[in-house]
Amino acid sequence: MTSRPNGEPLVRLSGVNKWFGELHVLQDIDLEIARGEVVVVIGPSGSGKSTLCRTINRLEAIDKGEITIDGQRLPEEGKQLARLRSDVGMVFQSFNLFAHKTILENVTLGPIKVRGTSKAEAERRARELLDRVGVSAQADKYPAQLSGGQQQRVAIARALAMDPKVLLFDEPTSALDPEMINEVLDVMTGLAREGMTMIVVTHEMGFARRAANRVVFMDGGRVVESADPETFFTRPESDRAKDFLSKIL
Ligand code: ADP
Ligand code: MG
Repeated sequence: MTSRPNGEPLVRLSGVNKWFGELHVLQDIDLEIARGEVVVVIGPSGSGKSTLCRTINRLEAIDKGEITIDGQRLPEEGKQLARLRSDVGMVFQSFNLFAHKTILENVTLGPIKVRGTSKAEAERRARELLDRVGVSAQADKYPAQLSGGQQQRVAIARALAMDPKVLLFDEPTSALDPEMINEVLDVMTGLAREGMTMIVVTHEMGFARRAANRVVFMDGGRVVESADPETFFTRPESDRAKDFLSKIL
């Protein structure tokens, strides 16, 4: 990456803690993500990566600490929560498209229902986004008629249709056949280059090297290391990071 992020953090987690019963799943997380920054989150299974993503768009409540998006604290509930949540787009491992809606409808639904966009405008924008992710020819089909890679690209278009300030990706290529991984990573790399603020949980280290400004390594509910990709991959500091890298690289 050549561009450097700047300005106030767009996403800020301060002293974030979360428990699932006895399990202390997020422990004193402090994390700031600048506008335009691409942060790749890696770590062993069960280290809290998905929970971290889910707290950022408030699919999960936190027990202690504070999360702000663009300077605004995430409220407990209500209208303001819906609005702030729509500032945070999320792309999941399992594409989660609406099976009984067409591809075009999947992308227009949010803008029409949540943003109050007119149908005509929502469709114009949806076609533009479907074109951008390379699936415009599939607009009138249903999700089951598309490959996994195409469905995941639709899921990205759907998230973009809400004009989010930040996009979260939770292992977006883990459910894909190998030959489809790159078509999704290419779309994500394009978004990164265009300056989208992104938090990406992934085991795709090639993507991390190519597109990330920073790698955050989690283990046992904590952020153990945070460094630029070059530093992290060549000179990890902690034994836990070294051990993890030795298993995946
Ligand atoms: P990761 O995404 O890094 O694999 P997760 O955030 O999914 O980790 O999970 C972290 C820990 O929290 C794991 O031990 C997991 O079993 C536990 N966990 C996740 N979600 C729940 C839940 N809804 N209820 C109870 N425990 C959960
Ligand atoms: Mg996970």
